[in-house]
Amino acid sequence: MQKRALVVGLGIAGMSAAIGLRQAGWQPVIVERAPERRIGGYFVGLMPEGRRAAADLGIAGHLPARNPPDGGKTWSLTRRGSLEPGLGFLHLPGDPLAVIRGDLEAALWQGTLGDGTSEPVDVRFATKPVEIDDTGADVRVLLEDTGTGTWYRESFDLVVGADGLRSSVRRTVFGPHENHMTTWDTMICAFELQEQVPSFARADSLISARAGRAAWVFSFADRPPTAMLTYRTGDIEGQFTGSRVERLRTVFSEMDDPVVRHALDSVERAPDLLFDSVHQVKMPRWSRGKVVLVGDAAWCLNLFSGMGATSGLLGGAELGRALRENPDDLGAALASWESRLRPFITKHQRIARLKQQMFVPSSRPAEALRSVVLRLACTARERRLARTRAAEGSAS
Ligand SMILES: Cc1cc2nc3c(=O)[nH]c(=O)nc-3n(C[C@H](O)[C@H](O)[C@H](O)COP(=O)(O)OP(=O)(O)OC[C@H]3O[C@@H](n4cnc5c(N)ncnc54)[C@H](O)[C@@H]3O)c2cc1C
Repeated sequence: MQKRALVVGLGIAGMSAAIGLRQAGWQPVIVERAPERRIGGYFVGLMPEGRRAAADLGIAGHLPARNPPDGGKTWSLTRRGSLEPGLGFLHLPGDPLAVIRGDLEAALWQGTLGDGTSEPVDVRFATKPVEIDDTGADVRVLLEDTGTGTWYRESFDLVVGADGLRSSVRRTVFGPHENHMTTWDTMICAFELQEQVPSFARADSLISARAGRAAWVFSFADRPPTAMLTYRTGDIEGQFTGSRVERLRTVFSEMDDPVVRHALDSVERAPDLLFDSVHQVKMPRWSRGKVVLVGDAAWCLNLFSGMGATSGLLGGAELGRALRENPDDLGAALASWESRLRPFITKHQRIARLKQQMFVPSSRPAEALRSVVLRLACTARERRLARTRAAEGSAS
């Protein structure tokens, strides 16, 4: 009989896992707490591992490439108010594919619908698990349809918790959030700009970073840029009280440059914004019995890593592969999946701390060091590009 899996969460990791499970011959059911698809989101740079996973899941053809030509120009605004060439996210090694999270969501959604050779995935909105009971033989899950208020029980051969940073599957099966979520004393606010910062070209990306606070503008070839304001604070709880816009204005009051001014004016008009504290999730094991966590629920790398979407796609695709390779031994499949993925995740969890210093330096000395490192990296990149152009010139 076909094995059934419950996937909790219709995000990047949940849909990737569902498609991976279906490829492995399983029958996935996705439950999503929200009443409809969550199509929002801002800049995502898809790294090579994410692009490969998208290809494995058969959704790469649904993804647009929104990279500005040659990655566009990136400018850093200095304390003195001058502009210096900067290094943006799209200049990272691996040529990240610039998309918005909604592009990935839409491509994966298309993938869940099936293509004639595969069945559409059963997706139930406004539904969440209330109890998860792993009996050893199966997992009995009490589900709540929050639209009608009805509760019902179903049995599955596997439960996949893909319900994000504050995962309820993790809390229910693996223990309280405090045991697994590390605090980074940093806030982020991401949103779409209605228009580019005045006097800059459409494809320019912009960075204004000072000790403890920073504004980033990520540009695309074919749509308005998105912005991220980020700041460090010792009082995370306090950030969630009162008006977010007023709080941002206070935090950024000492940074009076065109990027910050434009971002603060735009945030007031942004119809949709992501405002949250930054965390990582660290767990000694991502599965227990017949329950496994993927994506932010298991390892949240966070926005500074730039690997959240990539690792969500990879986690789901690799789960499917491990189940395909171990069709009759769930324990072996989960163990092999985790041992393949863990070195990658551990590496990027570590690197994220360094990247955080690049996004928002922790102090004046860190800010100064960051400037030196970036200047050297920019010079090295310019030299590399010049060499490539010269080699191309002499070849033609
Ligand atoms: C609306 C939205 C916008 C985002 N925007 C960005 C962005 O601009 N840039 C960026 O880098 N990252 C963004 N992220 C985060 C990014 O998508 C993730 O870091 C990464 O893709 C891994 O995703 P995930 O599927 O593990 O978790 P998530 O993307 O958080 O998805 C989890 C899903 O589970 C659902 N869920 C939660 N609890 C339950 C429950 N109890 N029962 C059923 N369902 C539940 C949530 O509604 C959500 O749909 C965004 C996430 C969301 C949800």
